[in-house]
Amino acid sequence: MDDVLQLKRRVLELENSLGKERTRSHELELRLLEGGGGGGGEEPFRPKIETMSSEVTDSNPYSRLMALKRMGIVDNYEKIRTFAVAVVGVGGVGSVTAEMLTRCGIGKLLLFDYDRVELANMNRLFFQPHQAGLSKVSAAEFTLRNINPDVQFETHNYNITSLQHFQHFLSRISGGGLSGSSVDLVLSCVDNFEARMAINTACNELGQMWMESGVSENAVSGHIQIIIPGRTACFACAPPLVVAEGLDESTLKRDGVCAASLPTTMAVVAGLLVQNALKHLLGFGTVSSYLGYNALQDFFPNMSVRPNPSCDELYCRKRQGEELARRAAQLESVEPALKETSDVVLHEENTWGIELVGETTTEEEAAATGQVPHLPEGLSLAYTRPAQVSLGEEVEDTEESLDSLMAQLKCL
Ligand SMILES: [Zn+2]
Repeated sequence: MDDVLQLKRRVLELENSLGKERTRSHELELRLLEGGGGGGGEEPFRPKIETMSSEVTDSNPYSRLMALKRMGIVDNYEKIRTFAVAVVGVGGVGSVTAEMLTRCGIGKLLLFDYDRVELANMNRLFFQPHQAGLSKVSAAEFTLRNINPDVQFETHNYNITSLQHFQHFLSRISGGGLSGSSVDLVLSCVDNFEARMAINTACNELGQMWMESGVSENAVSGHIQIIIPGRTACFACAPPLVVAEGLDESTLKRDGVCAASLPTTMAVVAGLLVQNALKHLLGFGTVSSYLGYNALQDFFPNMSVRPNPSCDELYCRKRQGEELARRAAQLESVEPALKETSDVVLHEENTWGIELVGETTTEEEAAATGQVPHLPEGLSLAYTRPAQVSLGEEVEDTEESLDSLMAQLKCL
């Protein structure tokens, strides 16, 4: 027993010193980059801009973005400077995501990745061959700062799935916002289920909205998904089969075999992800709940997935309880008459609590089957556009009565 305790203590000590070494090497890399090794000078190319302006001049980097207001798309584009977004995973999707947000003038970006740039990454966008060997977060920060010095950056060169770093990751999600509050949005751009589960656990615990993205190993399909703890299915509510069956994904990988990747699919998925994030943050258009992309058929399935009342994650069930209580309280205060509606419990036999939005005819379904994105068991596709996902605080349109909500609350 003593031996085990000693070993555990030793592992913690080693993890601590590794963390310190990483911080030192990160600082060293930044100094090297600033010294000219990264291809730029010590100072960013342009000075900071205090106020975003709509002025149409060749030297205004925001004129085309501010024109969204004149075109009637966005009411208040300048608001983008008030948001902090965490990008977890700065690979093929994450680096492009971070670049798009930087060019859009986001207030603050928090980047998390433990990997280094390799020549094997050069089939994707963003990183360049001379950056090989540098940590992805340092190389990204340097490039992005030069593109837009108005953005604040915070980088973390560690693996969020390790015990020690997970706690720090949690603290940066809850305290890394612009005024020390929680970040406004977490974007998952990681390439493995373990890291997605870590983000899921953190966001369920904190009640933090996040958006998940993924590209398939054969490089020809991908998806984005919004996860609002308690309101939509979390990553553990409907886990991919590899996780549901308790398999260790590292055992699925073999030496000399790697996943395929295309810069096209990754950029499309990054574009869909940032588009959804901008629509949510700036309040325009329809925010997609789940949007798939099948490159072989140019097919974009769109659906919404409800949370699973018997999800394995304690904090997911807790957030579902809070959500039901919130909706019950709203119904009670706003629409007392709704109490008298019939007690129809939706999806009584639906173990997963999954509801698909959108009606599909048999003909449409038959025509659209074939190569579709890999979906967890129990999920099928809705081919028509679902009703708009409401993200505001207004009373939601629901067919459920107050009694039905209270009954669900008791079951949790
Ligand atoms: Zn869940």
